[in-house]
Amino acid sequence: MCGIVGAIAQRDVEGILIEGLRRLEYRGYDSAGVAIYQPERGIGRAREVGKVAALADMLNTESLAGGLGIAHTRWATHGAPSRSNAHPHMSGDDLAIVHNGIIENYQELREQLQAEGYEFLSQTDTEVVVHLIAREYRTSGSLLPAVKAAIGQLRGAYAIAVMHRKEPDHLIVCRQGSPLVIGVGIGEHFIASDQLALLPVTDRFVFLEEGDLADVYRDRVVIEDKSG
Ligand code: GLU
Repeated sequence: MCGIVGAIAQRDVEGILIEGLRRLEYRGYDSAGVAIYQPERGIGRAREVGKVAALADMLNTESLAGGLGIAHTRWATHGAPSRSNAHPHMSGDDLAIVHNGIIENYQELREQLQAEGYEFLSQTDTEVVVHLIAREYRTSGSLLPAVKAAIGQLRGAYAIAVMHRKEPDHLIVCRQGSPLVIGVGIGEHFIASDQLALLPVTDRFVFLEEGDLADVYRDRVVIEDKSG
């Protein structure tokens, strides 16, 4: 079981994400990573094998300050624990994703995407999801329909958080077989695998149900169930 943390706020969320990951360490993991949107630089990413403390050290050297971010502790199921297999995974420079769970049909999806020219930089099942969303984005030009179209093609268990460089005012999360909770703040929102991760920043929570998808902005959250 890995851990997911995410945030959208006016303040810098790097410290909130790292503290959230520390609070999820009890779930077990082999590597950790974070992606944060920075208006002047795009999506910055840091990943490290081993403890969250090692990732925090990395960020002390080169901070990724910003108000939108996703973070992850990985428990490897597909591909060895390594920096290139650690999440977040990206498709190009625009799209970043963290995923908890297993995509059962990843092999056939990977072959399709590779045949279409998508380059895979990890051995994970997760990387098919980020390229699938990128492919759907090319058709829809918008993240919400792209995520919906992509998850419609997945079999397996997942909790997913997604952000896009061209849509830095929201992040999208969905769950099927893995837990996710939304933490409600004042003019800010957080997401995590377990509310424990978010106790330093809020005590108000919305628990997503199986098949739910949430479009999370600073000032609002729109939740859809499986039937839309
Ligand atoms: N299956 C994914 C991987 O191996 C996610 C594992 C997890 O839940 O941490 O990267």
